[in-house]
Amino acid sequence: MGIATSTALVWFRRDLRVQDNPSLNAALKSGGQVVALYIHSPEEQGEWSPGGASRWYLHHSLLALQSELAAIGVRLLCRTGNVQQVLTETCRQINVETTFWNQVIEPGQLALEEKIQTTLKAAGVTVEISPDDTLLLPQQALKSDGTPYKVFTPFWRNVQQRLQYEDFALRLSVAPQAISQPLEADPQAFKALQLLDQHDWHSKLHPYWNPGEQNSLKLFSDFIQKGLPTYETARDFPAESGTSVISAALHFGEISVARIYDYCRTLLLHESHPETVQSIKRFMAEIGWREFSRHLLHAFPDSHSESLNRRFEQPEAWELNQSDQILHRWQQGETGVPLVDAGMRQLWQTGWMHNRVRMVVASFLTKNLGIHWLHGARWFWDTLVDADLASNTMGWQWVAGCGADAAPYFRVFNPELQAKKFDPRGKYIQQWLGDEILTPTLVDLKISRERALERYQTFIRN
Ligand SMILES: Cc1cc2nc3c(=O)[nH]c(=O)nc-3n(C[C@H](O)[C@H](O)[C@H](O)COP(=O)(O)OP(=O)(O)OC[C@H]3O[C@@H](n4cnc5c(N)ncnc54)[C@H](O)[C@@H]3O)c2cc1C
Repeated sequence: MGIATSTALVWFRRDLRVQDNPSLNAALKSGGQVVALYIHSPEEQGEWSPGGASRWYLHHSLLALQSELAAIGVRLLCRTGNVQQVLTETCRQINVETTFWNQVIEPGQLALEEKIQTTLKAAGVTVEISPDDTLLLPQQALKSDGTPYKVFTPFWRNVQQRLQYEDFALRLSVAPQAISQPLEADPQAFKALQLLDQHDWHSKLHPYWNPGEQNSLKLFSDFIQKGLPTYETARDFPAESGTSVISAALHFGEISVARIYDYCRTLLLHESHPETVQSIKRFMAEIGWREFSRHLLHAFPDSHSESLNRRFEQPEAWELNQSDQILHRWQQGETGVPLVDAGMRQLWQTGWMHNRVRMVVASFLTKNLGIHWLHGARWFWDTLVDADLASNTMGWQWVAGCGADAAPYFRVFNPELQAKKFDPRGKYIQQWLGDEILTPTLVDLKISRERALERYQTFIRN
């Protein structure tokens, strides 16, 4: 007769890695058998269930996770369906004693976690939850009056002050020790999830991405060496490889945000070159924007579908009777405005777009074309490999001028001036449009800007 050992279950969501994974670590330390579980539940996630490009990335990231876990003797189960039912059923089937998971700071998720915890406890299963998704929990970063920050600069100042005392030791770890012989990875395990669309449109993404923890760690370490020292100056030029391109890795938790922050903070201690110091600080602030977006969405959980400034929900805030054809031409990169079209082609081809160009195409859609930001947010949701509810919501509301810490509504990006400044030799435009003869512009930039300003003046005053 074999010796009965306890079984621990680790529920994976946005933490698709084995290093620096608090829940996996805790489960491995518990001393028994460890099983991992991923649940795909598109019905529950509704209109914000992962879009096409994101599902492609997820599929490959899970494949990589499966082999990382198999190497340390942990089997990854993949299931679809109602999360609570699947978790309860799995715990019963494999006789789980303790279930571990890392928190996801997103609307609905914390309430769901609470519900599941109650059900599992009632079934005799212990639950251990760890922080992971953000540097601080939303309740740790409130103003002195207990309300959430709506402006980035004081938010980030406060968060950084608090983080001085946060050593992340519990969240950071070396590669975990194997608990048994390596298992064989099973690529068939993912079939049930059906993450990949039948139509093979996604093969175009392969040349641009290497999902998985090991590849993402390599991407980050290459950036630290080659890109970080000049980040401050290079980050705004879309034709340069001036940014880290780790947004999808961060979204899926292939790298932990704690590791990135901690690493940068240590670099700062030893760096004296002014440009590099400035670059590291700037990069950390961008990690701060990711943090801010999560805290904001937590505080305003409907903001993924409604403007935070409710005046922007009045019909007159947008161009009435704007046709679907116009939106379609923006989506396809056929507006006749070179920087906008180049950006939309980059997105379609690669599943990613440079941040500067994201701002330009978003401003063009919401201001020059007068189309509600949600149409843009939904298109990004389906086409970005890094589609992230918090960052996408905040990005769109910031540009549209209707968010918490928004660009003033009268700031309309001029795509021609932006191209002159940030793509002075036209390299980026050439890369994505080649020598294509552009269609006539959808709107006159000057007239449509004036119309936008008139539109805003009327309803902002009301
Ligand atoms: C309209 C619009 C929509 C956006 N949608 C998304 C989205 O769905 N998912 C997403 O991850 N980012 C989104 N962003 C933010 C930003 O454009 C991307 O995070 C960035 O371009 C990713 O490239 P990178 O990893 O090279 O960034 P870097 O410049 O190398 O920054 C490092 C990391 O910091 C975070 N970050 C940087 N800028 C921002 C920002 N403005 N807001 C929040 N986090 C930031 C990201 O996690 C990024 O990977 C959006 C921005 C706009 C204007």
